[in-house]
Amino acid sequence: MELKRWLEHGVEAFEEWTRSYEEYETHPATEVAEEARAEAFAELTGRLRGSYPFFHPCYAGQMLKPPHPVAVAGYLAAMLVNPNNHALDGGPATSVMEEEAVARLAAMAGLEPFLGHLTSNGTLANLEALFVARESSPGRSVAIGADAHYTHARMCHLLGMRTHTVPVDGRGRTDVAALERLLASGDVGTIVATTGTTALGAVDPVHRIVPLARRYGARVHVDAAYGGFFTLLAGDPLLDDATAEALRAVGRSDSVVIDPHKHGLQPYGCGAVLFADPEVARFYRHDSPYTYFTSGRPHLGEISLECSRSGAAAAALWLTLRLMPLTREGLGGVLAAGRRAALRWAGLLDGSPHLEPYQRPELDIVTYYPRTEPAALSRIGAASREVMRRGMEARENPVFLSVARIDADAFARRRPHVARDAEDTHVLRSVLMKPESEPYLDRLHRRVMDLARPTP
Ligand SMILES: *Cc1c(COP(=O)(O)O)cnc(C)c1O
Repeated sequence: MELKRWLEHGVEAFEEWTRSYEEYETHPATEVAEEARAEAFAELTGRLRGSYPFFHPCYAGQMLKPPHPVAVAGYLAAMLVNPNNHALDGGPATSVMEEEAVARLAAMAGLEPFLGHLTSNGTLANLEALFVARESSPGRSVAIGADAHYTHARMCHLLGMRTHTVPVDGRGRTDVAALERLLASGDVGTIVATTGTTALGAVDPVHRIVPLARRYGARVHVDAAYGGFFTLLAGDPLLDDATAEALRAVGRSDSVVIDPHKHGLQPYGCGAVLFADPEVARFYRHDSPYTYFTSGRPHLGEISLECSRSGAAAAALWLTLRLMPLTREGLGGVLAAGRRAALRWAGLLDGSPHLEPYQRPELDIVTYYPRTEPAALSRIGAASREVMRRGMEARENPVFLSVARIDADAFARRRPHVARDAEDTHVLRSVLMKPESEPYLDRLHRRVMDLARPTP
């Protein structure tokens, strides 16, 4: 069904529900003049045109795409009510939907039993996991992979936790031998592993990190904000064996963060944190003089750090997972298309006269750079930024890419022949997270090739 019909249904259902209560007068204070409304709305929609076309496969840059129409419809239907999932006082219906949706995420991650809830985003979800880590192993430090999301260091700073950076290997994955040397010092209380780094989509070997952590009495937190949903492909030949094994081991960790607003087809405002030990609820214990009065059941706000939180986000996720379940055939089909596109593009780039792959994609992020003469970091960086700029500014058939900064050591590990004339460089980066990227791939490749072709 098309989006308009879905939205109409949501509005109708809401109006029908409001009519089931006693009639009341609306107040003129909230009225807006019809003409002014039309004008203001036209200005809004006009200004929104200043956005990048995230919906189109010519947008092959950052991790951005519009939500699925089902999620929009679910969100709107609930937003008209505007429930607050902090407490059952504010979100009696949508809190239960949140519990059901989160249980599905936990089952996908392999956590049973579990404790968890949705959050406003992945950063806050990671903050909660690090907070619980701090309370569980007071005074001990956090080991974070060098390619982990930059917010981990910020959140640890906020929490007053000391951190160590663990080097990564030639594919951007946490170096397990270096991690073990660090663990041997006895100082590390928590390891942050990432299944799907934001820049390269590298998947840390969780299956090797967990046993190591257990030996040294450390916790493992898995940041699967971006990569979590790829667990749906863990039994599929589309993923490398080591990647699949790492994803399958996520359920053996102590906490996991997954962002439904990344690969779960949701609008922004939807992260999730999951804990393996439901007893960690004790670290959240607090009371509120205003809430938690309508029900003796646990309120979500009693196990989360945020107060007000959108119940509509929970409704949107609940509806989406009902219609596109967390199975290989359900949501897995969306991830598989992006993964196939990434693999195929890597193959095309390998044989390209003007472009070179930076590294083989592990999930659906493709990294590549224009070939330059001579091959030197400074030239590659400048050429990458130039391709991005010219692609965006093209009058006809623009193409939207992103760049990632790569330090000289990391680059040298993949491409030792490239002259090291700078501390770091930029490579092009495309997250192929829309299934539409698959049928569009040849056009995308041709466009980027044209942009990278040296001008005579
Ligand atoms: C996006 C991302 C985050 C941050 O999540 P937000 O929802 O943007 O706050 C953290 N970790 C990883 C691996 C991510 O990809």
